[in-house]
Amino acid sequence: MGEMKQGEADAAPGELEWKSMEREHILSPGVIEEYLRSRPRWIRWREWASGRRYRVTRFLDRPTPLVIVAHSFRNAVKARQVALAVEQDWAAVPNRCRESYDEVLFNAPRLIVVQLRRSNVCKCLGHRHVAVKEPPFAEPHDAFGGASVGEMDIAYERVENWQALPLTDTALDTKFLQGSRLDEFHAQQFRLRMLSVLLHETNHLVFPHEPEVLVRQRSLGFYSEALASYVERAIATMSLTIDRSFSRLG
Ligand SMILES: [Zn+2]
Ligand SMILES: [Zn+2]
Repeated sequence: MGEMKQGEADAAPGELEWKSMEREHILSPGVIEEYLRSRPRWIRWREWASGRRYRVTRFLDRPTPLVIVAHSFRNAVKARQVALAVEQDWAAVPNRCRESYDEVLFNAPRLIVVQLRRSNVCKCLGHRHVAVKEPPFAEPHDAFGGASVGEMDIAYERVENWQALPLTDTALDTKFLQGSRLDEFHAQQFRLRMLSVLLHETNHLVFPHEPEVLVRQRSLGFYSEALASYVERAIATMSLTIDRSFSRLG
């Protein structure tokens, strides 16, 4: 701590900023992918043969955390959905939703490994892990530049079937079914649920002593508000379509 203060005092104005920018630059999805490719061939071959795959993504409004989706090749489509949720859906939720996780993401490990599974025995949506078990990320490595690593698992089938807001969900299904956009709605709903579970578990990683009721309140609040905002936009375009065909009849 004292050493850091010393360094700050010695650094010319602007130099510190540049240094921290360089540090952020060091950690990018490209750097992680490069690290994965640079490992010995026999390790990569064994990993590939076992079906293990990695997809690296990040929230576009902040340099870290990077999210590494560790998955089986069988779940590549779901892994892509998780990446889309982090990259695109996060950017599209109302400001208030993003702000509610500002402190959590600011203090989060700079690398978050998500072990994406189809299901888990205990029937939870996900868990944070006390230690990082995913082999390429379990040991510190130069490529990480001293970044902290956190890990969680998420069971996507549980997330798909999760009754987050039972009454709202049913009412919305009816509405989107009438607009023949039920599939599109379910895909969006799944991605927003994924995002809220990812944020919920990150919250646990960062503040392990925060009571579950508060952690859940934050993630459910995020989900319901993000969903409401999507529905509002979608319904606006749906009624536009209906109105137009109506006027054509008249
Ligand atoms: Zn569990
Ligand atoms: Zn929890």
